[in-house]
Amino acid sequence: MLHRVLPAPDPLQPDSLDAVAFDRLCSWVRQHFNVLPLTAAVQRLEQGTLPQRALCVTFDDGYADNHDVALPILQRHGLSAAFFVTTGVLDGGCMWNDVLACAVRNTRHDRLKLHGLEMPGVGLESVATPMQRLALMQRLTAAVKYLPAARREAACAEVARVADVAAPRDLMLTSTQVRALYRAGMCIGSHTHTHPILAELEAHAIRTELRNSRSTLERLLDASVDLLAYPNGKWGPDVDSRCVQLAQECGFRSALTTDWGTADHATHRMLLPRFTPWDRSRLKFVLRMAHNLNRCAVRTSAGLADPSMLTTIQANNQLPVADTLLGMSNDWLPQPHGNTDARATEAVSGTAS
Ligand SMILES: [Zn+2]
Repeated sequence: MLHRVLPAPDPLQPDSLDAVAFDRLCSWVRQHFNVLPLTAAVQRLEQGTLPQRALCVTFDDGYADNHDVALPILQRHGLSAAFFVTTGVLDGGCMWNDVLACAVRNTRHDRLKLHGLEMPGVGLESVATPMQRLALMQRLTAAVKYLPAARREAACAEVARVADVAAPRDLMLTSTQVRALYRAGMCIGSHTHTHPILAELEAHAIRTELRNSRSTLERLLDASVDLLAYPNGKWGPDVDSRCVQLAQECGFRSALTTDWGTADHATHRMLLPRFTPWDRSRLKFVLRMAHNLNRCAVRTSAGLADPSMLTTIQANNQLPVADTLLGMSNDWLPQPHGNTDARATEAVSGTAS
């Protein structure tokens, strides 16, 4: 799971890949995995016809750099990816976390008087150095993330006002760019309309978020859209069985969480896990992939209120996780061992989700 691919490294965005790092990641992934379009991978997971070491690349939120920077690199490597778009910020909008981050990152002031936020420990903040700016961004983001939407928006607007920085108008995808991604053979999915924490909403508000987003994308693409990535995406605080059921009712056939792991025949197709390959070294990347295969987050009826919602996905074989890990190890650190496993590995990233 990825979010942004910056044109160049930015020390104030340490969790975002830059073009060079993404290019390197694509070459590792292409060398060692079978990268599939997400729609095809889900279909083949259901049919039990996944190839060995199947992997999907996904992007959340809908940043313009997904089109401008990531797409040409993906095309150069012959890779497909899925892009999950927050439709409410298409064409010039900006998500709350970026309003906050841009304000602190770009302010020309050395200090910000943030007493008006009424947050414990937040007041007169020094932002004279990049480290101070980064630390404040992280503190403020954590402080407002789970506030009710209106209070969160107000808090971010207050930071932007004090910092004297206007929200960027060119950060997110335009409708034209989404169409271009789709026409380039990429999968497009919904990331809701306004990126709320779905589990905190009433049922009618969840339906509105999902329907608005899906219908916006379907109008835009003149095609059916049935992929969803839950905002934030952690089972429990962000996604619950109610969200899953409503997403199915609203026409989504597959949905992705941000719970770390890989999908196999037992994984609920509305709770497909992902993880973030942010590693800078090949060895760490290998270890992370192996670790996530081992986790193999499986959601069964134990996690859902209504067991009848479960959809069992048949893989073409069902090797235990230990064999998968051996297979992975053998592929990455060559040793003789046969690998006949078939798993869909969601390669992903993990900042705001
Ligand atoms: Zn997101």
